Amino acid sequence: MGLRAFLSRRIVAPHGVRPGAILVDGERIRDVVAHHEVPADAIREDFGNTALLPGLVDSHVHINEPGRTEWEGFQTATRAAAAGGYTMLVDMPLNCVPATTTVSALEAKRVAAQGTCRVDWGAWGGLVNDNHLHIPAMARAGVLGFKCFLVHPGVEEFSMVCEQDLREALPLIADTGLPLLVHAELPGPIDAATQRLYKADWTRYDTYLQSRPDEAERAAISLMLFLCREYGFRLHIVHLATGTALEMLCAAREEGLPVTVESCPHYLHLEAEQIVDGSTQHKCAPPVRGHENREQLWRGLRDGVVDMVVSDHSPCPPAMKRMNERDFQTAWGGIASLSMALPVMWTEAQQRGFSLTDIARWMAEKPAQLAGCSARKGRIAAGWDADFVVFDPDAEFTVTTNRLHHRHAISPYMGERLCGVVKRCYLRGQLSFQDGEFPGEPRGREFRAQA
Ligand SMILES: [Zn+2]
Repeated sequence: MGLRAFLSRRIVAPHGVRPGAILVDGERIRDVVAHHEVPADAIREDFGNTALLPGLVDSHVHINEPGRTEWEGFQTATRAAAAGGYTMLVDMPLNCVPATTTVSALEAKRVAAQGTCRVDWGAWGGLVNDNHLHIPAMARAGVLGFKCFLVHPGVEEFSMVCEQDLREALPLIADTGLPLLVHAELPGPIDAATQRLYKADWTRYDTYLQSRPDEAERAAISLMLFLCREYGFRLHIVHLATGTALEMLCAAREEGLPVTVESCPHYLHLEAEQIVDGSTQHKCAPPVRGHENREQLWRGLRDGVVDMVVSDHSPCPPAMKRMNERDFQTAWGGIASLSMALPVMWTEAQQRGFSLTDIARWMAEKPAQLAGCSARKGRIAAGWDADFVVFDPDAEFTVTTNRLHHRHAISPYMGERLCGVVKRCYLRGQLSFQDGEFPGEPRGREFRAQA
């Protein structure tokens, strides 16, 4: 195929939204030029006022394959991702069986992913309480970084780590130069709160919220910053849900610690006051907190303390959500939002005066940096992969099951009116999604860290 030109009056480039044309040669962007500079022999496609954003990068997804493919899987997760404007996912090392805590487990994942992915992908390796000696080998085998839990994650194949485990692992992780992603909640404050709630009504959202206090996040982040100072590894705080830790994180950044922070669309859009009792599709950990907290998180994004927004897409079979029992204690925690994350964020962001450039920074460029693929992904610029989303920021739609595309159509956003429609998605120059369809064969491939 020859040179192609994708024209739009709203190309979302790193330094602003402007009219122009993306010139695509095979799988890569050759250049971004003004309309009058498009070579005469290029095949043109003009999107007019519809925006072209860089393909989104989601560094926090639970694909659950191999082993729990009935929960999700590469085929369904990457289909939902393409429909949501993503071109690259990084898979979390847990909920799949085996958990990605050894090189052989990583190899099993690669076999499972083969030929089924509609977006590119990479793998985080797991750090558990007995595998720190596997860290160098996993890094050489191409994981993009490591993930650990400071609280029990809810599946038996993946253990939490304590400070002593971390002290054994951190010198090895620092040596790899790869980031350590941390689920930052400590069990102490959660256990204490849960004991006080032993007679509480667990169909009430407020009971669940009280059981996972802000203090659990603050104490965990404080411990991790302390260890970051000591060992000098790249620390990444996943799914920050409490606004009360922003000051501490801001100070750590000013001190020069190599710490980055993500939050998720559900923490930036939902608020505890609006969650009705028994609505277990809203359960995730840490929990969605109150209105004022949500506004604090937005201030964190505005100030740059929160670097990025990722989905934490974490589905499960419907029965595990305990929707009949309406029980927040036994329901699986996790919100699946790959296909809705962009419109949810755009709906909130535009009301607050943010632009599509901000969206691209939070949802493409920064996650690509975290995952080590920012020289290929996350930008519309010469030399980058020809990954982009055709996005109509002015259109609205209502969330219905046929727009979700992940395996089990459960969503806390069901029935909501949202702004911004993903019309098409291009992965390395070829259509991966178009108006509800997934044209062509799955072409996604793994991105590996360069050891
Ligand atoms: Zn997660």
